[in-house]
Amino acid sequence: MQSAREGLRRYLKAQRNYAESVEAAGGIPLYIPQSAEPGRAAEYLEGMNALLLTGGQDISPLTYGEEPHQKLGAVDLQRDRWEIALYRAARELRLPILGICRGIQLMAVAEGGSLYQDIPAQTAGSTGHYPADMPMESLHHSIRIKEGSLLHSICGRDMLEVNSFHHQAVKEPGGPLQITAVSPSDDIIEALEDPSVPFLLGIQYHGEALKAIDPEYLELFHAFIAAAGETAPAKALTASQQG
Ligand code: MN
Repeated sequence: MQSAREGLRRYLKAQRNYAESVEAAGGIPLYIPQSAEPGRAAEYLEGMNALLLTGGQDISPLTYGEEPHQKLGAVDLQRDRWEIALYRAARELRLPILGICRGIQLMAVAEGGSLYQDIPAQTAGSTGHYPADMPMESLHHSIRIKEGSLLHSICGRDMLEVNSFHHQAVKEPGGPLQITAVSPSDDIIEALEDPSVPFLLGIQYHGEALKAIDPEYLELFHAFIAAAGETAPAKALTASQQG
């Protein structure tokens, strides 16, 4: 969840679309508050069936060995370190993991990869990936999905129209993560997977905001919840928010 401040009061917040999509797909969404004790991540995951890493603010480049670019936005290093620990603990436990927007970037960083701190400043000829003043459910660009990938099996198609609200993107996936979707005009990474486990998927678009325009976009969450458990009602955790 994302830290927020109103006057003298401090909050943790998350956009409702994540929990609503998990619930609509048959899961039970539970929030994990942000902790200053990354060593306790495995304890927080006890009894959980899956991990959802949500969107939010930029990721600190200190987590992948770079200094901040001028165009870097606000960061929260405590949140970054906490979610990296949650991701690694969930990997150890072999839980299904779904990363969305910031979540796919977090996955790459946790695996030793790196990010573009700002797409327009650090890539040439890129498509706009953060249109101004558009609702979350607005389709903005296409992605090309690799045949044989998990995302391809879920969507059943080579091309998908998606929304796009990110000025950062994965540069190097890191570890075993494979690129399974890109933006065709500029090759910006739009999905990552580890094919050696049943369900480990990161998407750069906000699939959780798209069920309102077409139930087809909810298939992603159906697949995630199915992977989380066939018998008991699945619980999927959400570890952050915004963006
Ligand atoms: Mn995009």
